[in-house]
Amino acid sequence: MAAFLPTMRVAAILLAAGQGRRFSAQSASPVAKQYLTLGGRPVIRHAADALVPHVQILQPVGDRAALDDALSGLAPDGCAVLAAVPGGETRQASVSAGLEALDRLPADQRPDLVLIHDGARPYVPADVTRAVIDALGTHAGVIPGVPVADTIKRAHDGIITDTVPRTDLYRAQTPQGFRFDLLRDLHRGAAASDATDDAALLETAGHHVAIVAGSEDNIKLTYKEDLVRLERLIGPTLLPRMGLGYDVHAFAENRPLILCGITVPHTRGLAGHSDADVGIHALCDAIYGALAEGDIGRHFPPSQNEWKDADSARFLVHAGERIRARGGMLINADLTLICERPKIGPHAQAMRERLAELLQVGVDRISVKATTSERLGFTGREEGIACTAAVSVLVP
Ligand code: MG
Repeated sequence: MAAFLPTMRVAAILLAAGQGRRFSAQSASPVAKQYLTLGGRPVIRHAADALVPHVQILQPVGDRAALDDALSGLAPDGCAVLAAVPGGETRQASVSAGLEALDRLPADQRPDLVLIHDGARPYVPADVTRAVIDALGTHAGVIPGVPVADTIKRAHDGIITDTVPRTDLYRAQTPQGFRFDLLRDLHRGAAASDATDDAALLETAGHHVAIVAGSEDNIKLTYKEDLVRLERLIGPTLLPRMGLGYDVHAFAENRPLILCGITVPHTRGLAGHSDADVGIHALCDAIYGALAEGDIGRHFPPSQNEWKDADSARFLVHAGERIRARGGMLINADLTLICERPKIGPHAQAMRERLAELLQVGVDRISVKATTSERLGFTGREEGIACTAAVSVLVP
């Protein structure tokens, strides 16, 4: 088998015709997901780069102009990148278009084997592609799959009707590999439009389709969260960013004084729509600022009654989640409370611990200090408390 494979010509059909409805509905992005930028390059470009070392022909299927742009400069050794052909209404129609384009090549250039790959799967480990091609030495069709790890339930109207044994279940991935002539002929047949994928076409026609080990990293970009996972996999460059926050609240009678997430004994509290935690508000604004995601008022509008007397801790938890959702991390935060009274020093350690807990980081990353304003200005006259915050984060 190993002797026979090197004589085989392998082509890859790279599918870029999909509109990615699930993704764009969720993200409101006008860009089809395969053209989104990941680690500085379009998703589909990563997919092409991953395939070309393994094949002699790459046939992209989809919008010509968009593909020319995404694949520009791609000139792999030993692989011809063909001009894109338009896709069809369905995935299967697009596969057919790619197969027919390959069939129009001169006979001596036509492939023996063809891989079908989703343009929205940018991270294909080389050993997965290799395993598919190798198994085509003994099978007419091969797909990579990963065993289903979660328990699978069938449900109707929100009630479980059945637990599906998962022992023999796999999640199908791409690239899926086939004997070229066989797949082309099956695509020309009557059953082609009914099949959910190419493997199903072979199965229905009575051919054995083998399954080889896929990879959990071979993610198909479907939901927004996938982009975060893929950013991590593709080895993003983490860049430091910094943000500044500043907030002021006036003193008010008959309110507890909440500062940096803890209650500080004092004769007065602070006035505000929420619990008026000036420290957390400044810190949140610094984090949102570092992420260029607006400010606390944008995420928790004071016009909404929901946030009246709200525990500001939840604002900070949200800000921390935003860092993680962006694939980033907090390096450090430094807060300065500005007031004549109460004395902050005795409470600073408890404040640091509370802020670190809310942000899910080590206490050594959080600094809380205080200064007076030498009796000058509104803080000097004890009309209120001000707070500044500086943060630095690492973000892809
Ligand atoms: Mg405030």
